Amino acid sequence: MATELLHIQGLDAGYGKIQALWGIDLAVHERETVVLVGPNGAGKTTLIRTLMGLLRQWHGDLVFAGESIAHRRTDQRVRAGIAYMSEVGCFPDMSVDDNLLIGAQFLPRSESKRQVDELYQRFPTLQEKRKALGGSLSGGQRKILGVAKALASKPRLLVMDEPSAGLSPVFVNDVIRALQTSREAGLALLVAAQNVKFLDIAERVYTLEGGRIGFVGTVPEMHADAALQRAYFGLHARHAAPAPNPG
Ligand code: ATP
Repeated sequence: MATELLHIQGLDAGYGKIQALWGIDLAVHERETVVLVGPNGAGKTTLIRTLMGLLRQWHGDLVFAGESIAHRRTDQRVRAGIAYMSEVGCFPDMSVDDNLLIGAQFLPRSESKRQVDELYQRFPTLQEKRKALGGSLSGGQRKILGVAKALASKPRLLVMDEPSAGLSPVFVNDVIRALQTSREAGLALLVAAQNVKFLDIAERVYTLEGGRIGFVGTVPEMHADAALQRAYFGLHARHAAPAPNPG
């Protein structure tokens, strides 16, 4: 079994007096891709924001690489090796270059330049636009910039909230390809998504409903559960489970 990189333990969180998350337990192992799926309002964004320290947890612990980060500031969590890509993804009023340099801001100066150059090699479409403002890019390119900006900090874990928000299916495929490349380079991923397309890259899935974790398992195990199959894949599932063996 791979080493546990992130362990969220018994996490409660919310807004004011309104509780949005109840007793969340979730783990991501080294190099593992975990997808968190759930309907609108289930609490995915709340969970990701609490993990990044953008929202304070009420109870529970957040352990990253063996150490509690529950009381660390967001920048300290980033320095520890967690990168975050929000639904927006990049800074629209900054150039592509500046977005990547901001992403790399916690690296030593000489290394940050090298890291940005490497990212341009990996994502050539961004290099062509290096002086353009983030906001002038197409929806898909903006997300790719968001991925590259998050990778600029050389994270061990990339946490993404709705990476397909507002994207056409073609661009969703571009984002998935970018994630697959990062994964091959050894990165662990935690992706919160409503779009089941992201299950293509999931090694394990957690479902979040009404602020609570429901199912935990693999995509084939999800297909084997009739209620989950109906709720998440519907009748036109492109992930359709294999037909049962006759006899
Ligand atoms: P979506 O995909 O629509 O973003 P989500 O799964 O990310 O949904 P959250 O945005 O985390 O869900 O919302 C979880 C719950 O917390 C919902 O009931 C929502 O109304 C509530 N909530 C979210 N943000 C706030 C806020 N700033 N103040 C009060 N309640 C909030």
